[in-house]
Amino acid sequence: MSVGMMKERVAEVSLKGGKTIIKMRDKISACGTRKSGLYHLDMAPLSDIAAVASLQLWHERLGHVNVAGVKRMIKNKDIYGLKCSSMAVKDVCEPCVYGKASMTPMPFSGGGRVIKRLQLVHSDLGGPLSEPSRGGALYSGTFTDDFSRWTDVVFLQKKSDMLSEYKNCLTKA
Ligand SMILES: [Zn+2]
Repeated sequence: MSVGMMKERVAEVSLKGGKTIIKMRDKISACGTRKSGLYHLDMAPLSDIAAVASLQLWHERLGHVNVAGVKRMIKNKDIYGLKCSSMAVKDVCEPCVYGKASMTPMPFSGGGRVIKRLQLVHSDLGGPLSEPSRGGALYSGTFTDDFSRWTDVVFLQKKSDMLSEYKNCLTKA
């Protein structure tokens, strides 16, 4: 590591007795040990710092798991080294709100009216992809027979190929 570069980044570097301590804003951010004329970073102090975080940060780090679950993990010491500096959590955690939002179910179409294969075929077209597939396809399409739920997936170079693919599917179905 370069002490000059550290100082440029407003780090406070002290070198004493084969050890170095690097501080950022008065907090120890790393330590180092001198070996063969160079200082090598000791990574343990960093991970110790990372292991202490607020309940909100642990909730976010653990993939927005419910807060009661995180509290239980801390209480039961389920995760080695997990320490909580503050039990404060946000009143509204935005990713949780979006993640838990759900759509109103699709209205039931009535059902029972389809009595044979290919009477009703659902179709969807996706694309264009940012990169074409190995076969040069930029679009993908699906055909689902409402009666049998038989589904075919097709890959298309152009949107206009959808009709010919539909005709192909009808011969296969
Ligand atoms: Zn959350």
